[in-house]
Amino acid sequence: MKRKHFITLMGGIAMGTLSGFRRFADELEEQDIYMPVLFVGHGSPTNALEDNEFSIRWRKMGQELPVPKAVLVVSAHWLTKGTHITAMPQPKTIHDFGGFSRELYEVQYPAPGSPELAKETSQLIKSTNVGLDHDWGLDHGAWSVVKHMYPDANIPVLQLSIDYHKPAQYHYELAKELMGLRKKGVLILGSGNMVHNLGMIAVPGGDFSRFNEEYGYDWAHEMNTIFKDKIANRDHKALIEYEKLNKSAKLAVPTPDHYYPLLYALGLQRKNEDTTFFNDKAVGGAFTMTSVKIA
Ligand code: ZN
Repeated sequence: MKRKHFITLMGGIAMGTLSGFRRFADELEEQDIYMPVLFVGHGSPTNALEDNEFSIRWRKMGQELPVPKAVLVVSAHWLTKGTHITAMPQPKTIHDFGGFSRELYEVQYPAPGSPELAKETSQLIKSTNVGLDHDWGLDHGAWSVVKHMYPDANIPVLQLSIDYHKPAQYHYELAKELMGLRKKGVLILGSGNMVHNLGMIAVPGGDFSRFNEEYGYDWAHEMNTIFKDKIANRDHKALIEYEKLNKSAKLAVPTPDHYYPLLYALGLQRKNEDTTFFNDKAVGGAFTMTSVKIA
């Protein structure tokens, strides 16, 4: 969909009011328009502050995509029992990391939430009861990326938690229930890293300020190639059963927290949609920033 066309659609609609929201949704429905879906490799929290190749690409992505009505993030950093959605009008910025500069702890991303959309999303999901959450906010898996995409913090941002007691297939299927949000102009963004092994972090010369330089173990590059191949060929079954992909899979995904957000993005891929990769690089030895746009 052309950005201009999307903006035209939004023209004259009193966004934020229920009737405006309904009419906007109706128009999208009639024209069979779906918001693209993203999986973003978020990497180090310091990307929130840096202008580097990854964050610059996130900013461009924000400019290229149709202006969303809201962003719903499935972040690797919100793992729960049961599924929850943030439902507060003004989510707080959570600094859920340790050992970084004071500057990073001072970052605020004051985007509004949307209690209405949270409620609507909870009703859309039939397979489980989605809890309306008033405690979480935006963790760095969400704000370190969205801050670059939408620097004015004027688009509502919500988070959907990952039920960490459920297997991969469950997350892939749950994502499908969110399809209706795409028609309503909501950008669904899975935020994790396909290859993510914190225990094996390695940087050139042991200098952590060089984390974002291209630097990956052979197995990280190997798994990056396999993941991309399966995504490009739409072999979702193989990606759900990622442990069977290769002997390196357990090095790439020692725990599935950063991998599951990818399954949410893939679950939302429609038959006629393609995948485009960006930020396709290994960093820190045991991580990839490889990201996918589905449209
Ligand atoms: Zn992370």
